[in-house]
Formats: sequence, C-alpha cells, structure tokens
Amino acid sequence: MATPRKPEPDAANLRRMLPSVDELLRSPEGEALAAVHGRRTVKEAARALLQQMRIEVCGGVNRTELATGVADLAAMLAIRLAEASAPSLRRVINATGVILHTNLGRAPLGAGALAFLTEIASGYNNLEFDLATGERGKRDVHVQQWFARLFAAQGCAAPPGSASALSTVIVNNNAAAVLLALNSLAEGGEVIVSRGELVEIGGSFRIPEVMAKSGAVLREVGTTNRTRIADYERAIDSSGTRKTKLLLRVHRSNFEITGFTEQPTLAELVELGQRRGIPLMEDLGSGALINMQHDLPSLSIHGEQGVGDSIRAGVDVITYSGDKLLGGPQAGILTGRADLIARIRSNQMFRAFRADKLIYAVMEATLRSYVAGQYDAIPALAMMRLSAEQIGERAERLHAALADQTSLSLEVIAGESLMGGGAAPGSALPTRLLAIASPQCSANTLAVRLRANLVPIIARVEDNRVLLDLRTVLPEQDETVLAALQFLSPAGAV
Ligand SMILES: *Cc1c(COP(=O)(O)O)cnc(C)c1O
Repeated sequence: MATPRKPEPDAANLRRMLPSVDELLRSPEGEALAAVHGRRTVKEAARALLQQMRIEVCGGVNRTELATGVADLAAMLAIRLAEASAPSLRRVINATGVILHTNLGRAPLGAGALAFLTEIASGYNNLEFDLATGERGKRDVHVQQWFARLFAAQGCAAPPGSASALSTVIVNNNAAAVLLALNSLAEGGEVIVSRGELVEIGGSFRIPEVMAKSGAVLREVGTTNRTRIADYERAIDSSGTRKTKLLLRVHRSNFEITGFTEQPTLAELVELGQRRGIPLMEDLGSGALINMQHDLPSLSIHGEQGVGDSIRAGVDVITYSGDKLLGGPQAGILTGRADLIARIRSNQMFRAFRADKLIYAVMEATLRSYVAGQYDAIPALAMMRLSAEQIGERAERLHAALADQTSLSLEVIAGESLMGGGAAPGSALPTRLLAIASPQCSANTLAVRLRANLVPIIARVEDNRVLLDLRTVLPEQDETVLAALQFLSPAGAV
C-alpha cells in the first residue's frame, strides 16, 4: 500500500513560515556567521536568499521539500557566504612537468626563503636603514653582496674600482629591467639588434615596442635567420644625431631558429663593442646562476648560457629574471659594469620599478642558498635535479596503489619535462609519466575533473590520455594526487 502523500502546503502559508532577515540574523547560527563574515555581509546574503525562497515558493518548486527552518536556511547561507568569500588565488598541483610554468606562478619558493620572508615582512626591518650609522641606507645592499660573492666564486670577479668592476641591482621584473637599461643607456640614440632576435615574450613584451617606449631607436640588422658581425659593424654610426649607443643581444627564449643560420659569437660582439667604444647589453631572459655544465652535469641543457658565462665573455650589462632558471621571486636583475649599473640606478624610473621588501627578502634568502651551494633548498633547481628514475619510482608507487581501479587504464611511460619560462627552448629533461585513460570518458573530461579537485591538479592531455609528470609535483603532494585518482574512478564517484 502506498503511503499517502503529505498535502502540499499552499504558497501563502509557506511564505509565512519563512523567517525574517532579522530572525535569521539573531539566531545562534546567524550570529556565528556574522562573527566570521561581518553583520552587513550576512544581512545582504540573508535578504537575497529569502527573496529567492519567496520567488521559488510562488514558482513550481516541490513545496514539501522546501526548507523553511532557521537552521536549514542558515546552513544554506553558510555555503553561499563561504563560496563568496573564497580567495581567488589558489594553490594548485602542477603535474604538467613544466618547471617554470608562467601561468602557474613560475618558480615555487622554498620553505627557508618563506620563513625568512615571514621573519622580515611581518615586522619592521632595515630595508633602507644603515644599522651601523643609524642613517638612511639603500635597499640594494641586501642583495648586492650575495651576487658579488656568487660571481666571485665563479671566477667573474674584477678588483673593486677597476674599469670592469661588477655591480648588480634588482627591479620588479625583467621587462622593467630591459626598459630601464635601454632608457638609461640609449635614450635618444640607436640600439643595434639582429632581426633574428626581435622577439615577443609572452603577451606584451616585444623588443621593438619596448625599444620605442624607452626612447631609443631600434636599428635592425641582418635577416631573420642570418646575421653577421659585419652587419653590426656597418650599422654603427658614431657621428651626428643617429649615434649608436648600444649593441643588444636578446636571448631567443621561447623558440629556436634552425637550418641555414648564422649568428655572431658573443666574443665577436664583445670585441666589436670594445673596439668602437659601445657597450654590449644582453637580455638573457632566463639567467642561470649556477654553471649548468658544472653544477648540473646530469642535465645537458644545451644552449643554456649562465649569467657567469656572459660576464666572463665580457658583456657589459646583462638582464635576467628572478623567477626563471634562478628559481627565486619575480624580479628583474641587472648585472654589469659598475659605471653602467650606476647610471641605471640613478635613472628616475628606477623608483617606479623598484622591488619591495617581500622581493628583497626572498631574493636574499635564495642567493644565500646559492652561495652555500644548497641547491635543493631552491625548489625549481631541486626539480631539475631529479632523475627520471627517481620520478619513475614515485609514478610506479601511484600505479601500484591504483592497481584495483579497474575503470582506469594506467601505465608508466617515458617522456620529457620542460624547463618552461623561456629557458632552453630546445632542451627537455627525461622523465617518467603516469599515463591515464578511461574507457568511460575522454581524457579531456578526466583533466577537467582533476582541475575540479579540492586542490586543483593541472595535467597534460595527449593522444586521449592524461599525462601526469611528478617532477613538478612536490613530493608531499603525491598522496593528494593518489586520492584524486582514486576518486576519479567510478568506484569513487562519477
Ligand atoms: C622572460 C623574458 C623577459 C621578460 O621577463 P619577465 O621577468 O617575465 O618580465 C624578457 N626577455 C627575455 C629574453 C625573456 O626570456
């Protein structure tokens, strides 16, 4: 015998049953919400919720299921308020294998650097205060000595005061560093650049546009694929108003030109600049502070030149990012001849581009790790140093733990991780990938569901498989990835 259906309450009755905004706010649940979100916000949300309920009462909703009790409504309110006040920036798990992923925040920061950041930024500090004299100091000093020690250790030191003495300053990012250097060293004059290096890097950083904004005039030489040192030499103008003020070399960063190509060596450019008395600037983009060949012999990142290599070659000013191969905070770094760096430092624009205390703190901590040779304290470097075998062991462990998830087809395969961030476009690091496919749904659907995880997991999709590269997954995140994969199978929830 069927149970008799409860008679459906009529709309007018139901509307009377709904509490008022005030009743909701004065309830213990309402008070608790106000303590977290503020009374005004809760009141607004309660008003909107009750308004919506009244409309639903009149509409065709199943009235027996409608919640009218204060506790139920407060619970609905709590969910809405939590959603509305959730942060926009979220932690994600990078399973793409792209170490310096520009869309995912580039270089992750190490625990030591973050502890130092908290220590420095949670209170006052000596950012611009000279503790010895009690007078105003310069923020530059906090990173300068570490850069100097690092370069000295790499055999790049020149005696202080000598013509080739080195100096380093930092600004907000490398785009700012390039603009500032061009404006300081070449405003009103010409800058010679090879047509093969007129690059665009991510969105709006294009060499010709940056040049125009700097007030310098771009003088293109050579062709897209071939430029010779004679092309630079012919373009030099040392008379009149078109005076050549700078030779610029730009790292190609995100692409390669192969085939019938020619490019002068750095040594040729240095020789030309010195002979004609014109400084040579190099926008290195992803400046490595370690000697790649020496410190990461297992890596063979071909074509990736370190900052030290450029200094030793005799480049006058080098610009590079803090959060690419360096593995530190977002910053633009200018290293070079002390007299040129002093001109850059005294530019009015420096103030507009200066880095704040957060950057200085994280940069100093990162540089101290370099000086101490503690490369594993820098997460991006630690990830680069992982071998394919180490990553393979972690992938196999997940594979084994998922053995009974028959609804997914899993396999550990060989693949490649990428440096990203415009570093070494042509080189990849051998890795092992956990390849996942499902007979029930497409790889894109699996990827969407991984992104919907509480901590979103970002993965590559290739050949209708989701590929997880654990190189860029922090070791302590393996368990989160495993739990998400268990949940992906229909046995979990579909
Ligand atoms: C990445 C890059 C830039 C821009 O650096 P940001 O730190 O992202 O501003 C400029 N030049 C080159 C060659 C680069 O690779």
